[in-house]
Amino acid sequence: MFTAQDAFGVPDVVYGSETYKTWIIRITNESSGFDKPEVLFIGGHHGDEKVGVEAAYYLAEWLAEHYATDDWIRYLVDHREIYIVPVANPYGWVHHQRYDENGIDMNRDYPYDSSSHIFATVGARAIHELTKRHLFINTVSWHGGTEMIIYAWGCYAHTSNTESPDDIAFYNQGQYMSAYGGPYSGYYPWGRANDILYPCYGAYEDYAYAASWDLANAEPLWPTNGCRSLTHCIEISSSKFPSESTLGGRNGVYNPGGTEDGYVPKNIRIALMLTDIAEPYIEITDSPPQEAEPGATVNISWKVMGALTTAETAVQYGLDADPINNYTYVTSLQSGGTGWQDVEYHESITLPAQPGTYYFTIRAKVDQDTLNQNNPEPQVAPQSLYVNMRTNDSWSISNYNNTLEGHENWYSRIFTINVFPPEIELYSGWNLITIPVQNNYTASDLSPHSYQNAT
Ligand SMILES: [Zn+2]
Repeated sequence: MFTAQDAFGVPDVVYGSETYKTWIIRITNESSGFDKPEVLFIGGHHGDEKVGVEAAYYLAEWLAEHYATDDWIRYLVDHREIYIVPVANPYGWVHHQRYDENGIDMNRDYPYDSSSHIFATVGARAIHELTKRHLFINTVSWHGGTEMIIYAWGCYAHTSNTESPDDIAFYNQGQYMSAYGGPYSGYYPWGRANDILYPCYGAYEDYAYAASWDLANAEPLWPTNGCRSLTHCIEISSSKFPSESTLGGRNGVYNPGGTEDGYVPKNIRIALMLTDIAEPYIEITDSPPQEAEPGATVNISWKVMGALTTAETAVQYGLDADPINNYTYVTSLQSGGTGWQDVEYHESITLPAQPGTYYFTIRAKVDQDTLNQNNPEPQVAPQSLYVNMRTNDSWSISNYNNTLEGHENWYSRIFTINVFPPEIELYSGWNLITIPVQNNYTASDLSPHSYQNAT
């Protein structure tokens, strides 16, 4: 945990004798470095919408408390950097008011399609300083007052045509956020903010998605290379301060629709999903044996994770230790869903006759449908980190100490099968052994006739 005041030198939140900091929580396995895919979750831009602060706080608790016992959580913490700003507007939270200590709306204070003010609030400035130093692939800013998932376009600059260049990716994410969030109080509807809610000036969502590339509507005084995130506003609950009985309990997180489900478990689930899909990966769900006989059939099962659609997946293998680049065999291509639709892929492989150590990997190409567009505004290709990192081999981006490279293909860990003939057990006394032997003789070669002709 650290504060934006210490890390970025932004001022304290001060009103009279009251002083507050802007706290930032970073959850990751620090031993594996700080160049991992990043996600960001923000609560409390509006101080009276307290339900979002609850979601942010208990998300952090869930990650910390389940690292040791939950394989999926451990994978996410080992392979992601998860940033959480639980209370963007601490003065408003303490005083139960929407605005900051100076009566300013923090979620109208960002330098993208702005109107009257930019960074008049400490919270918006602090979150800008965080955003501009990172490459957040997926972001949620939690609010309350209605129940929906909304995304770009949500600003006045794009009201006549509300389709952003990344609309398919936004839509797909919204669809599965809604599905995995589950039925508590009804599945969240999802859509473009300008279509299903209303436009705003200077809101965080469109800023964090577009301020690095839609320069016609960005503010040149505040340049940033960190704003290409698929950023969702989740309006958690129709009440901004729902009763405690609707928040849910810890046993509700993995039991959607169960007795302890509620607004907080629902949004922890959504946050975990967005953390998962920040980077594609392959989970081997049924490992083949490490040793097998030539010609034996082995079974492999896997899930494509970190993605929402699978364009191609196959097993490739051979005797070379680098089966990603040098393989002799490949199974037929499969396609369809991912683990997020509970789709599992299976392959039965008949091993080659030639003995040796075979090296295997599973390849997947994912989310290629996010390249589709209808009539986006502006007329440019998808700009988000999410789409480019999984569709474009020649794409890369650097920002401060963070880099992302595009990959059209994603690979599982490499695993091996030692293929060799069955061992022969020798007993004391006489053994009758029949071993198939490859040689160059034919039956006639071994006849007395050929023997006699030998020189
Ligand atoms: Zn709000």
